[in-house]
Amino acid sequence: ISVGPVSVNAVVERSIVLAGHRLEMANVTLDNRVQNDLPEIRGDANQLQQCLLNLMFNAVDAMPQGGRLTLASALEEEPPTVVLTVTDTGTGIEKDSLEHIFEPFFTTKKEGYGVGLGLSTTYGIIERHGGSLSAVSQPGKGTTFEIRLPVEADIP
Ligand code: ADP
Ligand code: MG
Repeated sequence: ISVGPVSVNAVVERSIVLAGHRLEMANVTLDNRVQNDLPEIRGDANQLQQCLLNLMFNAVDAMPQGGRLTLASALEEEPPTVVLTVTDTGTGIEKDSLEHIFEPFFTTKKEGYGVGLGLSTTYGIIERHGGSLSAVSQPGKGTTFEIRLPVEADIP
């Protein structure tokens, strides 16, 4: 763990490169709508990288027939907050599951395809950055995960 200034834009760009091949293989089109002038935040770049990749790979898994993965951003004031969203056009998540997705070892994937640690790990990392992670989903239509990160986080 190494905390310092993190370029959110660099994290996004690297995630796109790292996920690129997998997106292609899965017939997923990437729509990058992240503004390119996001402020730096205080945090651990590798951990945040892991979070974004987790969300992107989950999105790919949710689109077995291919689809669209949209990355978007917003910058809020008072307190300054970077908001990143990861949206897919996949299966969506039923209400019964939605209540449990952030719990360790919750998975709906076939045995051997997921152990259910991605979202709980991601949730913990974002929380330690003073931020929050949430999901909204429409079964049959798709899902949006929202990462909120304070620009001036007080990280233990
Ligand atoms: P894993 O990917 O190993 O199953 P995760 O913690 O990453 O574990 O995700 C837990 C569960 O949340 C998944 O098994 C799936 O049921 C659900 N899920 C996560 N992301 C999505 C998504 N984008 N679309 C549909 N379901 C999702
Ligand atoms: Mg996962």
